[in-house]
Amino acid sequence: MFQLTMRLSAVCLLYWLQLSLLMSALRGLDFKYHGEEEMVNYLRLLNKKYPNMTKLYSIGKSVQGRELWVLAIGKHVASPVPLIPNVRYIGNIHGNEVVGRELLLHLAEHYLTMYSTNSTIQTFLDSTNIHLLPCMNPDGFHISKPNYCDGIQGRNNSNNFDLNRNFPDSNNPRPPPIQPETAAVIRWVHSTHFVLSANLHGGAMVVNYPLDVFPGDIYSTRSSPSPDDDVFVHLSLVFSRSHANMYKGNHCDDHFVNGITNGAEWYPVLGGMQDFVYKVASGYEVLIEISCCKYPRPSELPKLWIYNKDALINFMMTVHIGVKGIIYGESVQNSSGVPLKGATVSIKGRDIPFYTTSRGEYYKLLLPGNYVLMVSHPLYESYSTFVKVQSYGVTRKDILLSLKSNRSEHTSSTPRRQGAANSTISTVNTFDTANSSSPASPLFHVLTFTLVVVLLF
Ligand SMILES: [Zn+2]
Repeated sequence: MFQLTMRLSAVCLLYWLQLSLLMSALRGLDFKYHGEEEMVNYLRLLNKKYPNMTKLYSIGKSVQGRELWVLAIGKHVASPVPLIPNVRYIGNIHGNEVVGRELLLHLAEHYLTMYSTNSTIQTFLDSTNIHLLPCMNPDGFHISKPNYCDGIQGRNNSNNFDLNRNFPDSNNPRPPPIQPETAAVIRWVHSTHFVLSANLHGGAMVVNYPLDVFPGDIYSTRSSPSPDDDVFVHLSLVFSRSHANMYKGNHCDDHFVNGITNGAEWYPVLGGMQDFVYKVASGYEVLIEISCCKYPRPSELPKLWIYNKDALINFMMTVHIGVKGIIYGESVQNSSGVPLKGATVSIKGRDIPFYTTSRGEYYKLLLPGNYVLMVSHPLYESYSTFVKVQSYGVTRKDILLSLKSNRSEHTSSTPRRQGAANSTISTVNTFDTANSSSPASPLFHVLTFTLVVVLLF
């Protein structure tokens, strides 16, 4: 009798556990702040549950030895494919600005649970690898005060350095020592080419885009447009206009036209991540302030998720604009050339060189129009060609460079496989290709509204 009772109890316990797990799965991620261990366990859970769509890895450790975990999501994250772009969100770079940390966990859950039923999400994750670092400053988070909207406790890392003032910056006359968290991100962006990225903050509501410093006048608050200012304005507007109310611009006692600002025009920042990524790592990065309160009550989180969800998703979709391709170098062993690492790719009139990856890839985000693409490499003949960027879809342009010693074949540097990839991802870009020379046009609103509707259902 005793044994029977024990068996029945064990069965009941097992049943209850299974039911709890099922209810938990149905309920999804709780809207609360997840501590270090809870956050890591959740990332592990997603990785275990979706092994073919995720990759969990650490980029290094904080000063106090906490791992900096990244969850990558996408059909190709396990074995990267050329010309599938990497994009990236970083949260909690300031330890007491915690909303981004939680929203990135919800974003991961959303992507993975919606993949099989939402064709927009599916197309995006089939054509993009998204990497999420929910917390860049775990030591700062550890000592931050819950429910404190302002203040600086926990903002810096445990050596008391502001990590968003800690990146190499040629404008900085007194650069601080690079911190372990910063060094980890620097190694990361050099080992993985991120085409588009953003770091998330709290204390304001605005998208802040490069440049963060006016060269030669580093402490002034004057606009410092980058060579790709039109692109950055477009990227920023995609976020602010997809957000529930950021575009209105009047939040947290600030006013920003359309909810966006040039970085230096707001206030200058030396050693910020976004300028470093743009100038050094051939990527387009912005800084996004997503809540007036840095550490709001947990009850605020559901609303903040709803306000930011479409903006977070739509922003990353803009990676599929402009022109991309592979630069090949002529080779005596291979008549069709070999992918060329470190070739310089630039657009005429835009004085910012981008460099090809180890697979010869390049990505230039551009608004619709005609451009001159210029390619150079110390060992090869330089080459220029016209590129037409369409109003939707990304243009594919591969180029073969001739060896300098073989001038007779210079004219063989003709674009190859042009347009071959357009059909692959044009369906994604159907939604995010508003003509950004007039981003507030009715077409833009219609497309944005269409995307919101698609995502909601
Ligand atoms: Zn911040």
